[in-house]
Amino acid sequence: MPEGTDSAAAATRCGFIAVIGAPNVGKSTLVNALVGGKVTIVSPKVQTTRSLVRGITVDGRAQLIFVDTPGLFAPRRRLERAMVTIAWAGAKDADLAVLVVDAKRALDADTDAILDRLANLAMPKALVLNKIDLVAKPVLLALACTANERIGFSATFMISALKGEGLADLKAWLAREVPLGPWLYPEDQMSDAPPRSLAAEVTREKLLLRLHQELPYRSTVETEAWKEQPDGSVRIEQTIYVERESQRKIVLGKGGQAIKAIGSDARKEIAELIGQRVHLFLFVKIREGWADDPERYREMGLEFPRE
Ligand code: GDP
Ligand code: MG
Repeated sequence: MPEGTDSAAAATRCGFIAVIGAPNVGKSTLVNALVGGKVTIVSPKVQTTRSLVRGITVDGRAQLIFVDTPGLFAPRRRLERAMVTIAWAGAKDADLAVLVVDAKRALDADTDAILDRLANLAMPKALVLNKIDLVAKPVLLALACTANERIGFSATFMISALKGEGLADLKAWLAREVPLGPWLYPEDQMSDAPPRSLAAEVTREKLLLRLHQELPYRSTVETEAWKEQPDGSVRIEQTIYVERESQRKIVLGKGGQAIKAIGSDARKEIAELIGQRVHLFLFVKIREGWADDPERYREMGLEFPRE
């Protein structure tokens, strides 16, 4: 195609979408469904200042970057007010806002407080009534009317994030509304690895960051167990495999200090990535198959058999 022709078709779009809503309305379920059930590790440099990039997806020539605004609810105490203020500051930077409402809970106190403040944000806003699988149609229509009387939403969608209903329309709308501009994330950064291996990657990164000088050997991390808890948190067990006892000692550190610090760093980042509280248990094991390792033989004063 000659340069300069058909530039509209070639133009890309890209934008940040703040997913706003009270706790438990289905924000995480929605973002996961839109990005294909996958979380994304991205370098922090192009994130909006205070929000966490939760997922990225592409629709046609538009890149959609979803940012999370955790902690939006009706604040009662001083600390709660501070948290809510920070969450709103993050939302303000986005190009579009999606208000997720649990259709069954309707406009309860939390969502009511959010509607009041959302009115002050300038970007286009979509109303998303979620969990329509639980609610009768007439109720949905009434709710859509009430909410639209409060704020001039640019569009209203009725979806079930859990069942995947109505998502294509919402995605297409977002793709049309994000501003023209180059993609902020190269396609190869839009990891489609499952959460278990992303979590292992995070821990491996923390391990290398802390111990890169002392641990010059190959080490691997595997997520062995991933168990959703009744309280909404996840219990994750990972094993760090090293090749020698001397490396195991380095990873553990004096009195277990090194592994504690690595575990704490990793736990925080994994929790942010998946949007859930995380209990992380790290184990350090020497990988079997050391018999292939000449170093091991040397340590034991043996000759490595060449065949
Ligand atoms: P968040 O706190 O807003 O991120 O909410 P979550 O995405 O964690 O969802 C809260 C709960 O609502 C979870 O148990 C979800 O499975 C459930 N949920 C989310 N979307 C739907 C939906 O469309 N229908 C139904 N029935 N449940 C949903
Ligand atoms: Mg969530």
